[in-house]
Amino acid sequence: ATPLSVVVGVGRAAEKGVLIKRPEALQKLREARYVAFDKTGTLTLGRPRVVAVWGGDEVLNLAASLEQKSEHPLAAAVVEYARERNLKLSEPEFFDSIPGAGVYGRINGVAVAVGNEKILRGMGAELPPEVAKWAEEMREQGYTVVYVATEGKTLGAIAVGDQIREGAWEAVHWLKTRGVEPVIVTGDHEKSARAVAKKLGISVVYSGVDPEEKAKIVEALKSRGLVVFVGDGVNDAAALATADVGIAVGTGTDVAKEAGDTILLRGDITKVVEVFKISEKIMRNVK
Ligand code: ADP
Ligand code: MG
Repeated sequence: ATPLSVVVGVGRAAEKGVLIKRPEALQKLREARYVAFDKTGTLTLGRPRVVAVWGGDEVLNLAASLEQKSEHPLAAAVVEYARERNLKLSEPEFFDSIPGAGVYGRINGVAVAVGNEKILRGMGAELPPEVAKWAEEMREQGYTVVYVATEGKTLGAIAVGDQIREGAWEAVHWLKTRGVEPVIVTGDHEKSARAVAKKLGISVVYSGVDPEEKAKIVEALKSRGLVVFVGDGVNDAAALATADVGIAVGTGTDVAKEAGDTILLRGDITKVVEVFKISEKIMRNVK
């Protein structure tokens, strides 16, 4: 049976916008060894802005037309930027997305894809050296780069700048002082991920992983200790469900809301510390 103080704690937490489905999750938190963070939307605002486009308005127009259909934070940035530039977007005749890779579809009869290298491979498109070099330079600065391609050809690329969330550094360091190891598990490129990790004082980074691989990394970490996964829910359902405790922050999609032993946080990652504190307090009362 769940001790009364835990039940009370769950109620208190709810008042603070922390929704705990299974009280056991709180009891487990105390033993956390790793807290694995998703990057885009979780450690960063996930409200990225376009900082540069390789290929001009033509590339931007195609990408934005397609991204209108996507819910990814990167997509919103591309669409917003195209609107700012008063581009007239087209409605895709077809659209689909590949989690952790990007989106593809057809616009005015032309196949278009936006995303990472996996998307390029899917389109049978090579990465021209000049685009690769540009992308590399952007990533060195911590930007995320997505490519735009059509069947058999890379058309250009878009660099997107995302800001680290206020309070993220403090949250990470609070965990570190408790002996919990922070880890980044992201679908983004290594360079961009490392730039964010460095700013936050996180030394363990798994990058370039798709949603399934995120869950596998969580699984592997679990063999070394209790793992908490913190994600914004976009593409993170599997990792959230695989972790000993999943913490879905912010708007978390409906998929994430259904995942296993999850705690839902209204608000951002600063609330993660709140949850750990609630857990500490409750467990002190239980003993
Ligand atoms: P994270 O793990 O950091 O939250 P995601 O798994 O959501 O990142 O996405 C990983 C990568 O997949 C992105 O960095 C991007 O290259 C690509 N991607 C995913 N969705 C989209 C999209 N709608 N438009 C463009 N690129 C996308
Ligand atoms: Mg994310």
